[in-house]
Amino acid sequence: MVFHADAYRNHESVSFFHDEPSGLKAIVALHSTALGPAAGGCRMWPYATEELALEDVLRLSRGMSFKNAMAGLPFGGGKSVILGDSQHDKSEALLRAFGRCIEGFGGRYVTAEDVGISEADIEILAQETRFVSGRRQRGAAAGGNPAPKTAFGVFLAMRATVELKLGRGSFEGMKVAVQGVGQVGYHLCKLLHSAGAVLVVADVNTASAERAAGEFGARLAAPDEVLFEAVDVISPCALGAVLSRDNVARVQAPMIVGAANNQLATDDVGGELMRRGILYAPDYIVNAGGIMSAALEYQGGHAEKDVWSRVNGIYETTRLVLIQAMREERAANEVADEIALARIAAARRRNDTELRRAS
Ligand code: NAD
Repeated sequence: MVFHADAYRNHESVSFFHDEPSGLKAIVALHSTALGPAAGGCRMWPYATEELALEDVLRLSRGMSFKNAMAGLPFGGGKSVILGDSQHDKSEALLRAFGRCIEGFGGRYVTAEDVGISEADIEILAQETRFVSGRRQRGAAAGGNPAPKTAFGVFLAMRATVELKLGRGSFEGMKVAVQGVGQVGYHLCKLLHSAGAVLVVADVNTASAERAAGEFGARLAAPDEVLFEAVDVISPCALGAVLSRDNVARVQAPMIVGAANNQLATDDVGGELMRRGILYAPDYIVNAGGIMSAALEYQGGHAEKDVWSRVNGIYETTRLVLIQAMREERAANEVADEIALARIAAARRRNDTELRRAS
């Protein structure tokens, strides 16, 4: 069943863990370790079926390979999921059992926070394994909450996209619709509001939506309609797979730049967006600020200011990929995947050569 999963596509390994005493059920997918240890967070989610959990972890880990490669980080791609409700099923015993699973990879996989896993949970994992990042920030050292850095990266990617599409260097009066004003969406709205943008916001959590509307003078929209607003930019900052073959025709905005992972339900949606003249900034380039922070923290010896200067690079990476896509009249997600795959393949060739030399 695993080998036939559409999302399987060349994973190095997929491991299933069950710890009966704590109730832990987890899957760890390592897509590629060619560029370095597979790095990617852990998600805890009450998946309706085990198949959906598998599909999610496979898609996310492959995305991490591409994200790390495009961010120029010496890390491969991996991801883990714990099957369960983070509100009710999480316990210290379960997290410790999961920490021991991570330790068992001996450093080939490094985990961090994702949906349902908090900074406090990472501290529990860290009692069982060295291979974690996203720990509590210590002084001026790199690390801590990645969301503000992710949001700043999204803001820079949006600036690059707007410059290329509209030839404008300012957000003044630009209409931006943000789906999901959680940690990243909220910080993004703050940056956009300060830069003079006019905001439309939506969140399934009414309190979050109202807070953003109040603070930034934003108009409220329905969560499942906000991406179809007639605005300049839509910014998916909630869940993945929000743009699909079924709804892409309803998108009116000429630009899409958001933080959510795997925004396109299937790769071909990128082609359809391009044919409709909509410029889509590939999600894993746009939202790399968080992994830049986690990676520099894990490596050690870096200051927080080093993370911010890395995040600044998201502007240029976005620009270069979009320029190539526009010049070649190809979908930007296809161009980005091609560059990332080439970097991974080159690293694999280098590793093979070194192995041959050493033997
Ligand atoms: P978060 O959980 O803090 O915020 C997500 C928000 O989306 C919540 O307020 C939630 O209520 C809302 N939401 C959920 N479903 C929705 C829907 N259907 N319509 C509207 N709103 C909905 O998460 P976050 O850390 O802000 O991350 C946002 C997205 O960005 C996620 O997809 C995450 O995987 C991705 N991402 C986050 C980071 C990071 O540094 N936090 C890094 C890379 C990618």
